[in-house]
Amino acid sequence: MTSSAVLQPALSLVLEALKEIRESQEKTFRVSRATLNRLLESRRHQNVPDIAAKAASLGQVRDRVCVCTKCPHLARSRTQTVFGVGNPDAELMFIGEAPGADEDARGEPFVGRAGQLLTRIIETMGLSRDEVYIANILKCRPDMPKGTPGNRPPTPQEMQTCIGYLIEQIEIIQPRVMVALGATAVEGLLGARGVMRELRGKWHSYHDTRLMITYHPSYLLRNQSPAEKRKVWEDMMAVLEELDRPISERQRNYFL
Ligand code: URA
Repeated sequence: MTSSAVLQPALSLVLEALKEIRESQEKTFRVSRATLNRLLESRRHQNVPDIAAKAASLGQVRDRVCVCTKCPHLARSRTQTVFGVGNPDAELMFIGEAPGADEDARGEPFVGRAGQLLTRIIETMGLSRDEVYIANILKCRPDMPKGTPGNRPPTPQEMQTCIGYLIEQIEIIQPRVMVALGATAVEGLLGARGVMRELRGKWHSYHDTRLMITYHPSYLLRNQSPAEKRKVWEDMMAVLEELDRPISERQRNYFL
């Protein structure tokens, strides 16, 4: 992420505040409390030296991931590794399973159909992909027999081999909240496979970080039931509450 992308949200707030001042009929400077609070909040989280240090540390891990051959079969079959994307100082981190064919081609997590749905969820939360951080348990696409379409889930062995990189990412970013997308992400993080129906919608913890478990977007693509989509949205509203983000009436009534 470029430093200009990191500074953009803070800059937009400053511009918004200046616009309010310009538009004000009063001689004295008046900025709404909401804008001021958001500006202060944004400054708290946009500590530039901190972000630069975190970006540099992530860059060092990325360099090691790029040349990783710990799983020789995956190193042979991948187009490239898929490290992670977003704000190095994100409050919120989404964790998926592994890159699919689209992500392997682009080098970025969650850019295929499931990724587009995840992006929509993030944007409906009032956030952007640049503000959060998105990564996977596995940094390589699980290999498929030649000519076979589709993707396969990672094996426990592959996850065990790769998880150290994700742990380093989490330790650098130090998000306030993490969201595990689907059973494989849960298994990678917590080391046990559970029943999603029972795990989702509740707060768990990953070391000292709050962890919300929800369905993987590809599950929602397979299962178009509004009830299942609503469950994911409720989980995301719990995440917003945990982050002290306001939730509008429109968001409360939203169905994905
Ligand atoms: N599914 C995942 O879990 N991760 C991706 O990056 C894409 C699809």
